[in-house]
Amino acid sequence: MTRIYNFGAGPAMLPIPVMEKAQAEFLDYHNLGAGLIEISHRSKQFDEILDSCDALLTELANIPSNYKILYVHGGAQMQFSAVPLNLMARNDAKKATYIETGNWAVKARKEAARYGTALSGATSEATNFDRIPEFDPATLDADNSYAYITSNNTLFGTRWHSFPDTGEIPLVADMTSEFLSRKLDISKFGIIFAGLQKNLGPAGLAVVIVREDLLGLALPYTPSLLNYKVYADDHSLTNTTNTFAIYMMSLVLEWLKGEGGVGAMEARNEAKAKLIYDAIDNSDFYRGTAHPDHRSIMNVTFNLTDESLLDSFLAEALKNGLYALKGHRVVGGARASIYNAMPLAGCQALVDFMAEFERSKA
Ligand code: PMP
Repeated sequence: MTRIYNFGAGPAMLPIPVMEKAQAEFLDYHNLGAGLIEISHRSKQFDEILDSCDALLTELANIPSNYKILYVHGGAQMQFSAVPLNLMARNDAKKATYIETGNWAVKARKEAARYGTALSGATSEATNFDRIPEFDPATLDADNSYAYITSNNTLFGTRWHSFPDTGEIPLVADMTSEFLSRKLDISKFGIIFAGLQKNLGPAGLAVVIVREDLLGLALPYTPSLLNYKVYADDHSLTNTTNTFAIYMMSLVLEWLKGEGGVGAMEARNEAKAKLIYDAIDNSDFYRGTAHPDHRSIMNVTFNLTDESLLDSFLAEALKNGLYALKGHRVVGGARASIYNAMPLAGCQALVDFMAEFERSKA
C-alpha cells in the first residue's frame, strides 16, 4: 500500500513504527495469547504500560517530582470543565482570567463561566486571532484562582513563543496541539493538559500534568470522574480506562525517545515548519494567515492569493497523496498540521507540490 501524508489537525498521523508494533502485538500481546484490549485495566500487563507512560513522560517532558500525571477521559474539551471545577475554588473570589487566542480559548472561558467568574484578560479576536494578543500578567488581580492560555492555536496557526510569568497565580495551559513538540519548563505551569489525538496517540483521552498543591481544591459538586485528586489517588484507574489509547501512547513515547527526545524533535519540527513558511514567504502565489512573529510550528495556515484556486489546489494535493489540507472554516484557506509524526519528507512533498501547482497556473 501507499500511505498518504496526513496533514489533518487531529486525529492525526501516527509514526509508522508505532502502527506496525501495535499491529504485530494486536492478537497476541507479549505471548499472552490475547490482545491487550481484551484484558483487564488492572492486569499486570496494563500496569506496566501505565508505569512506562509515567516514566517516559517524566523523562521526555522533564516533569518535576511535585507534579502528578493523570490520564483522564473525555479528550481535551472535558478539561474545559475539569479545570474550573478543580481550581476555581482556590480563592474565595472564584474568578479566573483567560487569554483569548482562538476558538478553543473562548470556548474554555465560556465553560468556566458556569463555575465562577471567567474574565477575558486579552483577546485577538479583532484580527481574527491571527496573533497572540499583548498581555501583561502584572495586570492580574492577586485573587485570581488561575490564569489560562491555549499554548498553540490549532485553527489559527499561532503559538505562544514565550509564556507569561503569572507569579503566584497558577498558569493553566491547553497544550493539546503542541505537547512534546518543544522543550518546556513545566515548573512555570500549575496545570498542563493535552488531548492525545495530535502528538500522543488516539483521541478520547487527555493527559493532565498538575502541581500537587493544586489537588484537593475541587468544588464540592465536582463529579468524581472529573476530580483530579480522585485520578491522582487511583493512578487514573478509578474506572475502566481506555487501555488501548494509553497503550498506543506508550508506543508513541517510546518512539519519541528513540528519535532523540523532545529537543531533537523540536529541531526537526522547526526545520519542517521553516520549509513550508519559506515556500509561502518566497512566493506571491501563497500568503500566510498568521502573524509571522506568532507562527506555530505544528499548524501552518496559509491561503492562495487568488482564493478561487483553493478548491483546485486541495483536490490536486489529494491526488498527490497530500491529505486533509483544508483549513478550518473560521480561517478558510489551507492548513498543514505537521505534528511530531509528520516526517520532513512529508513537508518537502507539500512544498514541491506547492511549487508545481503555482507553475501550472502561471
Ligand atoms: N484544545 C485544542 C487546542 C484543540 O486543538 C482541540 C481539538 N482540535 C481541543 C482543545 C478539543 O479537543 P477534543 O476534541 O479532544 O475535546
